[in-house]
Amino acid sequence: MSRTLIRGGLVITAADEVHADVLVEDEKVVALAAAGSTVAEGWTADTVIDATGKYVIPGGVDAHTHMELPFGGTFASDSFETGTRAAAWGGTTTIVDFAVQSVGESLRAGLDTWHAKAEGNCAVDYAFHMIVSDVNEHSLKEMDLLVDEGVTSFKLFMAYPGVFYSDDGRILRAMQRGAANGGLVMMHAENGIAIDVLVEQALAAGRTDPRYHGEVRRELLEAEATHRAIRLAEVAGAPLYVVHVSAEQAVAELATARDRGLNVFGETCPQYLFLSTDNLAEPDFEGAKYVCSTPLRPKEHQAALWKGLRTNDLQVVSTDHCPFCFVGQKELGRGDFSKIPNGLPGVENRMDLLHQAVVDGQISRRRWIEIACATPARMFGLYPRKGTIAPGADADIVIYDPGAEQVVSAATHHMNVDYSAYEGKRLRGKARTVMSRGTVVVDQDRYLGRAGHGRYQTRETCQYLV
Ligand SMILES: [Zn+2]
Repeated sequence: MSRTLIRGGLVITAADEVHADVLVEDEKVVALAAAGSTVAEGWTADTVIDATGKYVIPGGVDAHTHMELPFGGTFASDSFETGTRAAAWGGTTTIVDFAVQSVGESLRAGLDTWHAKAEGNCAVDYAFHMIVSDVNEHSLKEMDLLVDEGVTSFKLFMAYPGVFYSDDGRILRAMQRGAANGGLVMMHAENGIAIDVLVEQALAAGRTDPRYHGEVRRELLEAEATHRAIRLAEVAGAPLYVVHVSAEQAVAELATARDRGLNVFGETCPQYLFLSTDNLAEPDFEGAKYVCSTPLRPKEHQAALWKGLRTNDLQVVSTDHCPFCFVGQKELGRGDFSKIPNGLPGVENRMDLLHQAVVDGQISRRRWIEIACATPARMFGLYPRKGTIAPGADADIVIYDPGAEQVVSAATHHMNVDYSAYEGKRLRGKARTVMSRGTVVVDQDRYLGRAGHGRYQTRETCQYLV
């Protein structure tokens, strides 16, 4: 047995901020004791980590990543190996990635494919949601089996006709199944049928630059789809989790539903909180770096997202990490914005960007941990193994220096992508030591982890229902 003692830090969870020493045995947290108490002073350990002046926080839980995702004729540029290593650098110790059912395939075949990609390659722990692209009698039955084995959430798309898209009838069937088996339906809420018409019209009129990606994917079509998804979930009697909410009007739909007492939840992402259509309009095709769906919105929407995070109308900040290199990948869409692969890198930056929001006064320290660690763990059935620091929890712990200064750059990041969406941005705060199940994987600018340390996590059903 190995014992590690983390001394002198401020332990921050979603619930508390306490000056406490943390005792780790092998892979688990076994005890916390008040700093300076006789209990804490009496502890001995093989390794003592001095956290004086630092925060001691749970490892981040990023509930929305797409490593190696096939999209638009290419693949997301981070493998499970490079992507989870970058996650570790940024203080994230669990990812929940999306396995994909292709049309005509079973859920099982898709899940097996994603297991094969991830197994033996991850630096930190990982789990899977299942993307359901083909709702039929067989895949509905498979949903029950997946819930039983710990894949307890299913993503459906109201966008991308011909690829991931499900019509309202299929969505309703999947939601009904979720209501019965406890699976949580996650929704990409954009009216893809209407968007495709606007795309065609824009291209025909010669509007081909990246910024038109933002213009055709109208806010109203996000709001409309969000509203429709909520109503379908209500008819099915199912809870609903809306991914990557970006428009103020969509937040309003969620707030209204929640005020009515529905189990409706919303996620947003750092790119919607820190970037805007100004980035999409950058000249010389640079705007392609910021093409993702839902798209970036005008700056005015950011205030509504921050407010939603404070009032709990939005519960989770995930990255939707889906990187494509500018050279050779984003460039596929030169002269036709609809051919730009959709997605941004971010798995390494999320914890730090949200800490900057603490520094800026947008959210409290505990809310930072809640939206980035505790709630994603609860939402997707990983709590309290993940998302908190408590006796019995996995020792996924970050020693975080709130005073460190860093400048985000592709020159220094660890994601396998040739640009940063936050290039040059100054941030206060940085993960100094990162522990995954009791093993130090990053320490003072040195990577000590290894591919294959990360372990697959089966999940309970949603622990966040009212
Ligand atoms: Zn996504």
